[in-house]
Amino acid sequence: MPDTADKVHVNIAGAPYDVLIQPGLLDRLGADLPERLTYEAVAIVADKSLPGAIVSQVEGSFPQGFPIFRYLLPSGEQNKSLDRVREAYDVFLAARLDRKTPIIALGGGVTGDVAGFIAATILRGVPLVQVPTTLLAMVDSSVGGKVGVNHGSFKNMVGAFKQPSVVYCDTNVLIKLPKRELCNGLAECIKHAIIRDAELFAETERELPRLLDRDVPYFTRYIARNVAIKARVVETDVHENGVRAHLNLGHTFGHAIETVSEHEYAHGEAISMGMCAASYIATKLGMLEEPDHHRIVKLLSRAGLPTAGLDLDDTVLYSAMLHDKKASHGKIRLVLPDRIGHAAVRDDVPRALILEAINSLRRE
Ligand code: NAD
Repeated sequence: MPDTADKVHVNIAGAPYDVLIQPGLLDRLGADLPERLTYEAVAIVADKSLPGAIVSQVEGSFPQGFPIFRYLLPSGEQNKSLDRVREAYDVFLAARLDRKTPIIALGGGVTGDVAGFIAATILRGVPLVQVPTTLLAMVDSSVGGKVGVNHGSFKNMVGAFKQPSVVYCDTNVLIKLPKRELCNGLAECIKHAIIRDAELFAETERELPRLLDRDVPYFTRYIARNVAIKARVVETDVHENGVRAHLNLGHTFGHAIETVSEHEYAHGEAISMGMCAASYIATKLGMLEEPDHHRIVKLLSRAGLPTAGLDLDDTVLYSAMLHDKKASHGKIRLVLPDRIGHAAVRDDVPRALILEAINSLRRE
C-alpha cells in the first residue's frame, strides 16, 4: 500500500497498520475506529495534564453513551512506572474490559509507552491505538511498537514490543503545543535526517522557521516524511537486531543525561546533547567531516535545543552509559554519523574519547 502525504503504511509482517497524519483527526476518531477494529467499549489512557479540550474532543467523537473507561496518567517521566501501570490495571479490570477493548493512548511519549505496555500485558494483550499529542510522539514513539516503563533509575528497562492497530496524528494539536515540547520533537526529526536523509536535513535547515511558526500544512507533510523514515527502518528490523539501532543515535548519551540529571533535561533535549557528543566522536575518529559536525550542532541549536552547557560529572555519566540496554560486557555501543544521511554502529570507542566528548558539551 503506497504512502500518501497524509498516511504512512507500516508494513510489519502479521501486524501492518496505518499512521494517519491529518489536521482534525481527533474529531473523526470515534467514527473511523470501527472501520478498523470491532469492540463494545474503549479504554482511554490520557495524560492528566493534557488540555481538557483534547480529551473532550476524543471522547466526544464516540456516540453519546458509548462505554468509555478512563485512566488519567499523571504526567512526567517519573510516572513511566509499574506503579502507574498497576493503577490502570485496577481501573480497567474493575470496569471489565474484554480482549477486544482497545486501549487508546492519548498523550505524548510517556503516555504512549505506558499505555502500550498496559495493552501488551492486560488479559495477555488487547488492541492498542496510539493518539500522539506531542511532535516527538507523532514522529517517533507512537510508531514501531516499543512500549514499556522505567525501573527505578533504569530507563525503559521493562517493556515489550506491541504494534498499534492504527496511529492518529492530528496535526492541529501542534498549534498549542508548548514551545519546549515542539523543540523536543524536532530533535527526533533531526535525528531521522542525520541517520537516513541528507535532503531532509537540508530542507530542515531551510524550512526551520516554518516549523517553529507551526505551519500546519507543512508540518503535516514533514511529519509524514519522518514517520516514513521510521517505518522503513522498523519494517526491516522489528526487534532491533540490526539497523533499527540507528534510531538510537544520541540515545546512549541521552538516556544517561536524562537519568543523571533526574529528568531536568527532557528526552529530546538530552538526545540533542547526545547527538552532539556522537558527532564529535565521529569527527575525532575521522568518520565525519568537521563542517558536517558543525552543521549538526548548528541546526540543533537553531531548533531551540541544548548543545552545550552540560554540568554533570563525566564519570557518573559514563557509568550510567554502561547500564544502557545496548551496552554489553562492559562495551558501550554507539551510533555514529559517518556523513549527514548515514550512520554506523561502533562498540570500540575508547573510554577516554567518550569522556572527552562528554566534556566537549560543557563549552558554551
Ligand atoms: P511527554 O509524554 O512527557 O510529554 C511532554 C509534556 O507535554 C508533558 O508534560 C505533557 O503533559 C505535555 N503535553 C503532551 N501533549 C500536549 C499537548 N498537545 N498540549 C500541551 N501539552 C502537552 O514527553 P514526550 O516528549 O512526548 O515523550 C518522551 C518519552 O517518549 C520518553 O519517555 C521517551 O523515552 C519516550 N520515547 C519512546 C520511544 C519509543 O519508541 N517507544 C521513542 C522516543 C521516545
